[in-house]
Amino acid sequence: MRVRRINTILGSAAALALALTACGTAEVGDSGEGGDNGNGGGDSITIGVKYDQPGLGLDEGGTPVGFDVDVATYIAGELGYAPEDIEWTEAASANRESFLQQGTVDMIAATYSITDERRQVVDFAGPYYVAQQDILTQADNTDINGPEDLDGKVLCSASGSRSANNITEDMEIDAELREAGNYSECLELLSNGTVDAVTTDNTILAGFAAQNPDDFRMVNNPFGEEKYGVGLPAGSTEQCEEINAAITQMWDDGSAVEFLEEAFGATDFAFEENVPELEDCA
Ligand code: GLU
Repeated sequence: MRVRRINTILGSAAALALALTACGTAEVGDSGEGGDNGNGGGDSITIGVKYDQPGLGLDEGGTPVGFDVDVATYIAGELGYAPEDIEWTEAASANRESFLQQGTVDMIAATYSITDERRQVVDFAGPYYVAQQDILTQADNTDINGPEDLDGKVLCSASGSRSANNITEDMEIDAELREAGNYSECLELLSNGTVDAVTTDNTILAGFAAQNPDDFRMVNNPFGEEKYGVGLPAGSTEQCEEINAAITQMWDDGSAVEFLEEAFGATDFAFEENVPELEDCA
């Protein structure tokens, strides 16, 4: 049984802050009130999300917003944590595994693709969404229209992501790689012409392109499959099962599409509405 936090001044302030920022996000997590939680944990849950990715996980002061944040809030609700019981932490592509291994966070929902290599050191529930990879260029670029056009070009991606390797190693395209700490840094390098293109998931690029339609162009030639999992510490099989049940419900009750609409409905991005096929937990 979870011991509910006494409503301290801090708790009230957090709840107020959440209420103030809630106008842009869907009302989720209420179903967690009094819900059965088998997590045996304390009164809060720490979740790592991106803070710089519009549409997915964006922190503009206050509670982060976006699809990953909504998904994580819904899942936390099903595990018995109300929105005010969630402690958000910024995760970058490069620190997701170490955050889980060191217990910095309890879970990660940060455009975190399930891969065999990562499964060696962490567990994944999901996937809760299947993205694809794409390329972003400056708006006036016309010669980059797919990965094969990146031969000899300077390409930015975030360290700790798989995106660049998918092109240079798996597709054997001879691009010159420039790694940045996160994708918003790549966007700066693209705007000032240091790099020719940025590659990562179409969800991420769509968010940036929608924010700056006059500056950037999404090539819109998607490839590959990026299965977004909920990252968990190794050995979390039981919690993984609970989260998979929550993900199934999130798609069944229409919440997943509602969150996607909220994130991308006002953009040109045609997000995937097919229910993702869950992977085994163990
Ligand atoms: N989904 C890809 C990955 O996990 C790229 C996006 C990211 O770095 O967050 O490697």
